[in-house]
Amino acid sequence: MADTIPFIDLAAQRSRLKDRIDAAVMKVLDEGRYILGPEVEELESQLAEFAGIGRALSCANGTDAILLPLMAWGIGPGDAVFVPSFTFASTAEVVVLAGASPVFVDVDPNTYNMSPTSLEAAIKAVKDAGELTPRAVIAVDLFGQPANYPSLAPIAREADLKLISDCAQAYGSTLDGQASLAWADVLTVSFYPAKPLGGYGDGGAVLCKDEALYDTMRSVRVHGEGATRYEYARIGLNSRLDTLQAAILLAKLSVFGDEIQMRQKVADRYRAGFGNVVKIPHVIEGAQSTWAQYTIEVDRRDDFRAHLAEHGVPSAIYYPIPLHFHAPYAKYPVAPGGLPVTEAAAERVLSLPMHPDMSATDIDRVIEAVTSFN
Ligand SMILES: *Cc1c(COP(=O)(O)O)cnc(C)c1O
Repeated sequence: MADTIPFIDLAAQRSRLKDRIDAAVMKVLDEGRYILGPEVEELESQLAEFAGIGRALSCANGTDAILLPLMAWGIGPGDAVFVPSFTFASTAEVVVLAGASPVFVDVDPNTYNMSPTSLEAAIKAVKDAGELTPRAVIAVDLFGQPANYPSLAPIAREADLKLISDCAQAYGSTLDGQASLAWADVLTVSFYPAKPLGGYGDGGAVLCKDEALYDTMRSVRVHGEGATRYEYARIGLNSRLDTLQAAILLAKLSVFGDEIQMRQKVADRYRAGFGNVVKIPHVIEGAQSTWAQYTIEVDRRDDFRAHLAEHGVPSAIYYPIPLHFHAPYAKYPVAPGGLPVTEAAAERVLSLPMHPDMSATDIDRVIEAVTSFN
């Protein structure tokens, strides 16, 4: 059996950025402002600048980043929030944590992002049933690609719903040159180490355009603080980003644009090498993906994975079981007609090694392994 290539390679990135990151960390240790130090605000301003729109508020992780706007808007019991089921737990979990009900919506078969038709049908069904009040939509920019905001945003607006872009995997992605915040009310980010822009621990951020919302989320982030330190205006969280993480992320953000292009090159070589042997990722017109994952679809997936493993190629399945099948989520409504696309995709998707430092040799090994399966 061949030696195994890395699925992602944080060590290679670490050696590329070692001097910068070490200096940034030492500076924080020397200054000793571990909580909300100057690097935190600097990161927030650079995150908004890089996105080219809105203001950024950092927080403890990408899950809280979605919870913060829900709490700030007062979304809670009796409210419905429309989410995909083909996503990481956080997207629906925060809705339940806020006290509201997730309503699961199907995805598009080519992009795995929220289906506008399924969303429309789900909103209508919830309104007709009359038990829950539709309040918000959380679209996920899965695997790094922006959802179809030009179609989703008018549907949300028409129904008077807030629109969140769960951009945990896709910060830095664009559609027609713009971040998803150009269409959404809020864009949320995760800095979990394996995300395209990852720290060395947990972290997150939420971007928005509305100043009043920003101020409320800022209060929620630190225990619902009011005008002065020990006055509380609302129930909040302890969801600050560590100064150390902000310093590390600033160093990584300085090369992040280049890294997206490095990932794009890997995706281009994969596409050229795979031909039509497997179903390769479909990127919508005008979109730049961050390539958080390179996800193909295959028949006989277990055999396919075993074949890849024999060739030293690791693979992963995002996501093997849609959220609406898990016990804690099984009681919540799904869109009319169910979620057939989600359920089929969960059985067929397979994510391949993808990171900015991938060598030509490793890329060729993946191509050889994928195309030699029969
Ligand atoms: C990773 C991820 C999150 C949660 O981020 P954490 O920082 O781990 O809390 C939320 N949504 C999606 C789609 C994710 O991939």
